Amino acid sequence: MSQIKVAINGFGTIGKRVADAVDAQEDMTVIGVTKTGPSFGCELAVKKGFPLFCTSDEKESINKFKEEGYECKGGISDLLNLCDVVVDCSPGKLGKSNLEKYKSAEVKYIFQGGEKHELTGLSYTSSANHLENLNASGTRVVSCNTTGLSRTLVPLYELCGSLKVECTMIRRSADPGDSSKGPINAIKPVLKVPSHHGPDVMTIKPEIEINSLAVAVPTTIMHVHSIVADLPEDHGLSTDSILNIWKNTPRVIIMNGVKDKISTTAEVMEMARDIGRKWGDLHEIFVWEDGVKLVNNRLYYFQAIHQESDVIPENIDCIRALMGTESDWKKSVKKTDLAISKYYNID
Ligand code: NAD
Repeated sequence: MSQIKVAINGFGTIGKRVADAVDAQEDMTVIGVTKTGPSFGCELAVKKGFPLFCTSDEKESINKFKEEGYECKGGISDLLNLCDVVVDCSPGKLGKSNLEKYKSAEVKYIFQGGEKHELTGLSYTSSANHLENLNASGTRVVSCNTTGLSRTLVPLYELCGSLKVECTMIRRSADPGDSSKGPINAIKPVLKVPSHHGPDVMTIKPEIEINSLAVAVPTTIMHVHSIVADLPEDHGLSTDSILNIWKNTPRVIIMNGVKDKISTTAEVMEMARDIGRKWGDLHEIFVWEDGVKLVNNRLYYFQAIHQESDVIPENIDCIRALMGTESDWKKSVKKTDLAISKYYNID
């Protein structure tokens, strides 16, 4: 079978990680990545052997790469001519103009969570709606927070048949590489109530009734979700059986805050570095075992989200969904995760 040719438009925080994850897979190849202009990020692409293109088609912009000694293969249109699918990793809100380019080049497209569901009319997470996305012309991989909520809530919903959820997103205020965002010494409530995060889950699993609040806090390393979920009266579950469901759910890690001495996001991130994850990434959603409790039909739990990386393997499964090459989400997840762990030599 020929490999799926993948273009990455925007080689930043998400783009460089998606490129590596595509490179790790046997059934797809990175056909090119784009940068707006010459910068250190180009070095990274060159080192990995990813062909470099410019986000613009203007000759002047393309020539700037050459002036700085980088081989630029052309503009975005040249790249779109070569690929089967483009993963748009540009900063949020550029979607509308980029979408026009993808449609006129007749390539499949995947946007990220910085864009609204309305842009594509379809959204994606691996566990919630892989089949719905099969052979679609384009979609949006939901944000890191929505992906995190979906990882733990969808398996619970599949078992219970109904869920009513209230959650609070305690959000990192910026990525570690951002120097212009804040707050640096304040807690900033998101005054648009409810926040968009909970309702965004309903773009991929409308059956889950969910609302959310959000606050931004001065940290760069992870988000924490504080979740209260009401199960139906006849749920037949216990705290332990819920933990067992998540232990058997792909891309969820359960650890004990007290026994494992991992009681904060700082220790979770240290663990990710200890186990050899590149960039200190953690694709899995981290649930504190000792923070989970079912009281009658009300479930309480906390989870931590590594914002820069949980969506990365989802993009890979999403490529297979759009290309129609794997209809079983669990098989795709297995393939994706095994290839990534081999690529980075992770046990
Ligand atoms: P980023 O700013 O780190 O990277 C964006 C890249 O796109 C940069 O390299 C930038 O130069 C490039 N770019 C600028 N203009 C462009 C254009 N017109 N066309 C193509 N590329 C262009 O941003 P990011 O954090 O990687 O975010 C990318 C998308 O992923 C956004 O939709 C964001 O909301 C979403 N997302 C980000 C995170 C996160 O934690 N960083 C998590 C999940 C989803």
